[in-house]
Amino acid sequence: RGFEEIGLDPRLVRALSKKGVEKPTPIQQVAIPLILEGKDVVARAKTGSGKTFAYLLPLLQKLFGSSGSKSKVAPSAIILVPTRELSQQVRTEVLSLIELCRVQLKAVELTGGADMRAALAGSPDILVSTPGCIRKCLSSGVLQPASLSDSLEILVLDEADLLLSYGYEEDLRALKAHIPRRCQCLLMSATSSADVEKLKKQILHNPFILTL
Ligand code: AMP
Repeated sequence: RGFEEIGLDPRLVRALSKKGVEKPTPIQQVAIPLILEGKDVVARAKTGSGKTFAYLLPLLQKLFGSSGSKSKVAPSAIILVPTRELSQQVRTEVLSLIELCRVQLKAVELTGGADMRAALAGSPDILVSTPGCIRKCLSSGVLQPASLSDSLEILVLDEADLLLSYGYEEDLRALKAHIPRRCQCLLMSATSSADVEKLKKQILHNPFILTL
């Protein structure tokens, strides 16, 4: 099945086509419809499987409806990644899709050393960051915990196995308190370990488990 058949917005299908991406990978085939339905999803997915688009495309589509019309001060979506490199890569991909789709969504990347206040000043819809950085934003009040609880609709833990091995467990625990119950959570991990299982239990609700 093509991207259109699995429920992707025509704007995204066209944007992908411009990038030379015509057919969903196996993980995208399964993950995209589930995420569009609002399910929590855990995907065992390595770099190269197309896991980034698997969560990014439905995430963007879910925010299309709210673009421009929001009075929110905190982001609607947070994508947590283990490194600055990955954070920058994801942000570049997000910005490129937003531009190709011509939607009014703002995405910022925020990692260590950057000016947190400046990054969040424009009320981004999508924040790509590390758990340590988000925790700092919350504890310094740059990101108001209550605003985040009001606004957060989608949380992605990308490369969750690395998030844990890089020592972000404590930061994730601090963030957990501010994730509202209605927030949809997605967890991508190349491997499954006892720690990833624990994180899954702490943050996700009855997730669909995909191993492809
Ligand atoms: P990822 O697994 O997310 O690290 O993606 C690996 C690479 O595959 C990236 O360069 C993507 O642009 C590319 N890619 C993702 N999905 C597709 C697809 N459906 N068809 C062709 N290339 C893709």
